[in-house]
Amino acid sequence: MTNPISIAIVGLGKIARDQHVPSLAASKEFTLVATASPHNTLEQVPSYTDISALLDARPDVDAVALCTTPQVRFAIARQALEHGCHVLLEKPPGATLGEVRELVDLAASNGVTLLASWHSRHANGVEPAREWLSTRRITRVSVSWKEDVRKWHPGQTWIWKAGGLGVFDPGINALSILTRILPGNLLLQSASLSFPSNCECPIAATLDLADTRGAPIHMDLDFRHTGAESWDIDVETDNGQLRLAQGASVLQINGQAVIVPQATEYSRLYAHFAALIRARRSDTDVAPLMLVADAFLAGRRIEVEAFHE
Ligand code: NAP
Repeated sequence: MTNPISIAIVGLGKIARDQHVPSLAASKEFTLVATASPHNTLEQVPSYTDISALLDARPDVDAVALCTTPQVRFAIARQALEHGCHVLLEKPPGATLGEVRELVDLAASNGVTLLASWHSRHANGVEPAREWLSTRRITRVSVSWKEDVRKWHPGQTWIWKAGGLGVFDPGINALSILTRILPGNLLLQSASLSFPSNCECPIAATLDLADTRGAPIHMDLDFRHTGAESWDIDVETDNGQLRLAQGASVLQINGQAVIVPQATEYSRLYAHFAALIRARRSDTDVAPLMLVADAFLAGRRIEVEAFHE
């Protein structure tokens, strides 16, 4: 393996350009050596139209970051793992849990690293919140994850197609934080999913969960929200209150802002990926995706008015 690690980005869309490309440019651990995307290229980086062309042309590629839409990610990941590449999966790690299980087995049998990445877990407030909560009993949790889909996902028709998750595309970020900061497993109690009459995925959802001690967790997810985004988690405990605001970038305890170490989510994510590769380990936690799958399995479905962008 090269040092720095030679990496290629597959799927050159919004998140690749906004976060992966700048984070890799700033990383000492990785060098971005190629991209593969059907319609997009990056200036001064060799570009291929698909994973097959990339792997054929570039035996020097050690790792790939898969930033495609979720529905096509599995086949690309399988090919890369079978080729002997380390693989970072953007969230969600698959369109189904079965896909992720298959990838975990493939990574193990090929002796390479698989990272089911959850970028929100690397937000500034998450680890300090986890530590603070670890010594307290949680009594109630409330999550508000609301944003304007027209503002944040313009033209992303894949988000409304089966496997695109609809409002759970951002909502799974909240679940990735909850499953990191709260001890033990979370269990879905009930869910209500609002499907526009012309879409295959929900535009809004409410979830009621419980932690292992039965503390209630209520989540409100909504893509129809306008105005300022709400990406907030409030936790009440037997000894104080904690608030993770603005996607967990801000931490407040008992109403007071807490100073937390500052870094970008994706710089921490790539540091984690590099450490896993060097240690020959994988990180494939599917807890957030499992809770989404449970909501689709057991949730009540409501039809709401058609969505037109
Ligand atoms: P996007 O802007 O629609 O980009 C998706 C890209 O996937 C497109 O640019 C497309 O490439 C590429 N693609 C589709 N099929 C492909 C294939 N067979 N081979 C290679 N590339 C393929 O979507 P996005 O917002 O970046 O989201 C992508 C993933 O990142 C989603 O799972 C999302 O949940 C996650 N994510 C997004 C954000 C965000 O803020 N947007 C944040 C964190 C994570 P072409 O354009 O070349 O056709």
